[in-house]
Amino acid sequence: MSTERRVAIVTGASRGIGRAIAKRLARDGRLVVGMARSLDTLTSLRDEIVSAGGQADIIACDVGDTAALAAAIEGVAEKHGRLDILVNNAGITRDGLILRMSDEDFDAVLNVNLRSVFVACRSASRPMMRQKFGRIVNIGSVSGITGNAGQANYAAAKAGVIGLTKTIAKELGPKGVTANVIAPGFIETDMTANLAQMIKDQVVPQIPARRVGQGEDIAEAVSYVSSDGAGYLTGQVIAVDGGLSM
Ligand code: NDP
Repeated sequence: MSTERRVAIVTGASRGIGRAIAKRLARDGRLVVGMARSLDTLTSLRDEIVSAGGQADIIACDVGDTAALAAAIEGVAEKHGRLDILVNNAGITRDGLILRMSDEDFDAVLNVNLRSVFVACRSASRPMMRQKFGRIVNIGSVSGITGNAGQANYAAAKAGVIGLTKTIAKELGPKGVTANVIAPGFIETDMTANLAQMIKDQVVPQIPARRVGQGEDIAEAVSYVSSDGAGYLTGQVIAVDGGLSM
């Protein structure tokens, strides 16, 4: 086991689930590199982590610009001399029924939610293989397992993340690198804030845990899957959804 501080990248760390993951990994003793499109919100994340005694770095990067994303990830590995944990969390929605979904809305969601994950994993795989240690955690969705009306683009991207992650688990497993999907259910963030209260009221009774989830519920799972002790857990899709998708 390495005695050096593990270096973790979290994309989409400015808000919501990604911010909760970044704070949790910092509490776990990781040096956390948070990414999002603008430095404004990331600065407050870094300040919060540092004032709690943790270590953080921040990078403004649009993951949809995959050349910039690859350069950012390779830059982290160079700057810190290692890259141990990659959490691909950044994601967007452009919901609509398939009859009315434009090619642009399909492509935008595939680009941010799937292509960026492929590029980030590819860039991280070299340092992780060299170290013979790595933890790749891709944030999927129960929509990628069950499908969801109004989310053809999003469900396709998240289902793609599952196939991508299982393939990476097979390719990199012999090198000590694990790859897993954490698939959140209904989590209270900006992404779900615009859903009508009526929809939320209908969903909660269907959740065995009888509540919507919080970012911290997802961070808890990411903390374990990215730990040194989780080396025998790979290629799995773990739904953290209060039992919704059972
Ligand atoms: P939010 O909309 O609250 O936050 C999205 C995060 O992603 C922000 O930090 C945002 O940063 C970042 N982001 C978005 N687009 C880009 C981009 N092009 N480049 C870089 N960063 C980007 O979403 P959630 O926290 O709810 O979702 C996080 C992940 O969890 C997503 O992958 C989502 O699909 C998944 N998920 C969420 C569920 C939920 O119920 N909330 C359910 C299932 C899955 P900024 O805008 O500052 O750039």
